[in-house]
Amino acid sequence: MTESKNAYPGLTTEEVLERRRQYGNNEAIGEKKKSFFRKILQILSEPMFLLLLAAAVIYFFLGEPRDGLIMLIFVLGMIGIDIAQEWKTDRTLEALRDLSAPQSRVIRDGRETLIASTDLVPGDLLLISEGVKIPADGTVLSANDLRVDESSLTGESEGVWKSPESTQPPSGYWRKDYCYAGTLVTQGSGQVIVDRIGSGTEYGKIGKNVAEAPDNPSPLQKQTGSLVRLCAGIAGVLFVLVCIITYYNLQDHAFGSRVIESILSGVTLAMAMIPEEFPVILAVFLSMGAWRIAKKQALVRRLPSVETLGSVSVLCVDKTGTITKNQMTVREVWVKEGTQEHFTETMGLGCETDTYDPMEKAMLLYCTENGVTREHLFESYFITEYPFTNESKRMGHVWRHDGEIVIAAKGSPESLLDLCRLSGAQRGEAESKAAEMSGRGLRVIAVAEAHPAKEADVPAELKDCRLTFLGLVGLADPPRETVKADIARCYDAGIRVVMITGDNGITAASIARQTGMAGAGRIMTGDELDSMTDEELSRRIGEISIFSRVIPEHKMRIVKAFQANGHIVAMTGDGVNDAPALKHADIGIAMGKRGSEVSREAADLILMDDNFSTIVDTVQDGRRIYDNVRKAIGYVFTIHIPIALASLLAPFLNIAPANLMLLPLHVVLLELIIDPTCSIVLERQPAERDSMHRPPRDPKEKILTAKTLAKSIVQGLAVFAASFGTYLAADPFSAGSAPEARAMGISVLMLSNLFLVQVNSSDIDSIAVTFRYLLKDKVMWAVSAGTAAGLAVILYTPAADVLKLAPLGIAQLLLALGVSAASVLWYEAVKLAKRKGKQGRKQEAPSSNQ
Ligand code: ADP
Ligand code: MG
Repeated sequence: MTESKNAYPGLTTEEVLERRRQYGNNEAIGEKKKSFFRKILQILSEPMFLLLLAAAVIYFFLGEPRDGLIMLIFVLGMIGIDIAQEWKTDRTLEALRDLSAPQSRVIRDGRETLIASTDLVPGDLLLISEGVKIPADGTVLSANDLRVDESSLTGESEGVWKSPESTQPPSGYWRKDYCYAGTLVTQGSGQVIVDRIGSGTEYGKIGKNVAEAPDNPSPLQKQTGSLVRLCAGIAGVLFVLVCIITYYNLQDHAFGSRVIESILSGVTLAMAMIPEEFPVILAVFLSMGAWRIAKKQALVRRLPSVETLGSVSVLCVDKTGTITKNQMTVREVWVKEGTQEHFTETMGLGCETDTYDPMEKAMLLYCTENGVTREHLFESYFITEYPFTNESKRMGHVWRHDGEIVIAAKGSPESLLDLCRLSGAQRGEAESKAAEMSGRGLRVIAVAEAHPAKEADVPAELKDCRLTFLGLVGLADPPRETVKADIARCYDAGIRVVMITGDNGITAASIARQTGMAGAGRIMTGDELDSMTDEELSRRIGEISIFSRVIPEHKMRIVKAFQANGHIVAMTGDGVNDAPALKHADIGIAMGKRGSEVSREAADLILMDDNFSTIVDTVQDGRRIYDNVRKAIGYVFTIHIPIALASLLAPFLNIAPANLMLLPLHVVLLELIIDPTCSIVLERQPAERDSMHRPPRDPKEKILTAKTLAKSIVQGLAVFAASFGTYLAADPFSAGSAPEARAMGISVLMLSNLFLVQVNSSDIDSIAVTFRYLLKDKVMWAVSAGTAAGLAVILYTPAADVLKLAPLGIAQLLLALGVSAASVLWYEAVKLAKRKGKQGRKQEAPSSNQ
């Protein structure tokens, strides 16, 4: 089959280094990297920072320069935090990208090695096989049924057979003995000597951007975006209101200072109201989430997939390799014609010489174990072959073996028996034997042969051969150990598991029964699927959990039919033909081990271990991350309420601007604290206890539901009452006692903030449980200690004077602590009541979990 045996040894490490220096990396178009400067510019151009900077500048020039300067420092601190978070997000994403970057198999230093495709240099000996996207231009050195889809370059969808001996006239532009970057290997394998890389390739010349998926905002991004805009809108209205009222209140001031003071009050309120943390939270939570998922053997290729994962309601998985181990063994051989040895030999001749298919490997192993060596099989003269296709589900090889021509064919019994000379009774016997073996979960393959007298009599196609049926072979591929438990986990989490296989229905049903999959009795075959319209299919699909005898092209229709029923579909795939279905699924899952480059490129998620368990774990992670984003958004909303109300109410109470609880300075200070506490604490929260015992969330559900909003508002009002109450009680009306009143109010706010994150860490578990978890977490400790230290610094160092705060006595401090605890911890009683309610319901209906 190998059409050339030219020995080219490939490059050595030194040669590679030399050539790298000469030719650079194999990168088509220099990646557009955002410069550091541009990033800062981008952050600075956000409305919130413009507002903050404007406030600081007004302060600096028109108000008090010192206050303006401090505010400026705080703002710079916030920008610093933003840049740090963005940098971390970028780094995380880059690391993820590197992990899922395309790789190439080459011969270097005489050994087969896997390298990043960007490391290819001209002269490299590249090994390509089915499913690979060719990474550079190069000359075909040897080819083994090598067929390439060059439509990305030529627009010609018909595959091109490649061979080292060019049969094409030199005028032809697209050569048959040459492979082009960006094209796909759809069949066979081969060796290519890399000729041109990067922008030197035809693909690079066309300048076709190998662009990543366009950056469309995800549903969550859109939602948070509109939330921020809504808040900004309200802030705008209130800004005007506060300006007018303050202006009125300051009858005794000169016009200039009246205007400045009014504007400053308004700006303070606006700053307090805009939840600019939302987009940052989203970016940090999702990228950190993707990173944590990656550590568990699943690579997220698009960030928004992290949020989609949590809402997956149908999981379509390949049987072979995902549910089963893809470790086949020949279990049983049923010989109908000739000797056992002859059967074994024919089966072996029907396999590829260097196969990577686990089933053929099992067959060849069986041959060796039964005295038929590989040498004996493949030292014959190879004449031709009938390649396997997903549609025909059969294949054959033609050899001159032991002095005669033999057509060795194998395939599914349904497809192969049609080509065999069998009487009705004989065929019935074979079919019932096949059904009986399938019923035990075996994959059944029929083996047949023919002996044409001379080469000219070998038919062009397998379907024209008249074959002699030799017998059946049954292969076992046991389910993975954890699959049964994982499927139960899915059912508990309200997720449907759908099995897809090219095997027949009986084998599939048997595996389904072994793994505890529901609906083993209702099976739809590929043929049935073909006979249905899309409407019929989406009507009937609700009751089907097993699809048998399907080809990859069917997967796309299955995905669409489930989606038409409002489901969020995850679909696995490994082959080239699976790519469209993977693209179309809400979560396309490619296999890292056995998957093709093409399927990986089309996927949202790459499973490094090809394991079903990992999919379920990842879904759980998706739910956890979404929960945490929701908690964080709720928390940010909550903490903004007391800050905003304090700035809004003061003018109405006719408190002098200098005596306000929160001067612009303090608002910025608080903002500086909120963002990191929330990002760090809530991002680290483990999954809720019930995260996999409840149905998937409705994909249309808003991140800020009425319930969360109501909770946030009540919690926010409580904290407001506590902080503003203590401030009022300490008499803010006289200039002498104002700093102390303010210190009380701000202490209560900062301490409440600490309690708030803890209380909102879990929707169900009490603060004691979450706290116990966090006790073990050093980072968490750092955050709490940081807040305490921060409070000490602003109260008891010269900073107090600068920030217009007075130091508090022990009694006052304890009072602040007590008040803030009370203002937040009442919510624990609500959670307790909820837990009690849930337990009550569970006792009433103990069998509600199916
Ligand atoms: P799956 O979806 O379970 O991986 P495949 O699409 O690989 O199934 O195979 C479908 C059917 O095609 C198998 O049940 C078998 O009957 C037949 N088949 C697969 N591989 C081969 C092969 N190498 N030779 C002959 N028949 C095969
Ligand atoms: Mg297969």
